[in-house]
Amino acid sequence: MSADREKGIADGRFRFIFGVPFLIRLSRGSDSRACARIGGSPATRSVRPAPGWECIEPMKFALFGDIHANLEALQTVLADARARQCTHFVCLGDLVGYNANPVECLDLVRDLGCPVVKGNHDEEASEDTDLEGLNPLAEAALLWTRAQLDEQRKDWLRDLKMIRQVRDFTIVHATLDSPDSWAYVMNKFDAMASFSYQFTQLCFYGHTHAPKIYLKDDSVYSVDRTGISVKPGTKYFINCGSVGQPRDGDWRAAYATYDVVGKRIEIHRLEYDIDTAQNKIIEAGLPEMLATRLALGK
Ligand code: ZN
Repeated sequence: MSADREKGIADGRFRFIFGVPFLIRLSRGSDSRACARIGGSPATRSVRPAPGWECIEPMKFALFGDIHANLEALQTVLADARARQCTHFVCLGDLVGYNANPVECLDLVRDLGCPVVKGNHDEEASEDTDLEGLNPLAEAALLWTRAQLDEQRKDWLRDLKMIRQVRDFTIVHATLDSPDSWAYVMNKFDAMASFSYQFTQLCFYGHTHAPKIYLKDDSVYSVDRTGISVKPGTKYFINCGSVGQPRDGDWRAAYATYDVVGKRIEIHRLEYDIDTAQNKIIEAGLPEMLATRLALGK
């Protein structure tokens, strides 16, 4: 640790937790914050905060799931998250299934070293269970996916946890009340069941492939917004949408960011190279409908 950094921590003027520091000024009597980035690394920087400013670490999470082996969509999301200066990544499961790059997507997420929870397709692709009962498209894609994954990658998928707490929030693929039954949260009553097992203010999930924000204060309700500020006394259950196979009528890749300092959650939609993703599905011999549905967003 540099002498500059050590001194900053000792006299309480700076707080270096990781990486690039920001200057934060807290406005008196309000929640608003002014923020300015300091140039240079902690080791070389000689800038001192002016009185009334303190230096704290930015912490911004990129939360993404339901990638479903769509490499073009995943690469676009990760590039966008980096451009938005996300400092941490979190994966909400269903890395594989449906599209043509399960190995590449799994390796990319695994190499991020980020928290990941298990999705139903991760489970099905890594086990030898009977696929009866699944829809024919999912079944065909899972049989193909099983043949692409080696034992080491299947072990990695099999070992994923159903629920994880990350910092001060929870992540799960489907629901908190029964995470391994793969039920869908489709309305406020489903959300109420999940909220009753939510012990953090925020929980992020996926599985429906449609972004949604549920809130719980005196009641449980949803809002149709692409962004929301986190307020004390309210719980949030946030579906981050699907990276690789959106089903809300919008074909663009979806993911969320959570700015811990600014207490703000945003859901982003991104165009990606869908033609390449579709061509790969056809070339792999997967059902053509899997390529068609990508463009329809369903
Ligand atoms: Zn999924």
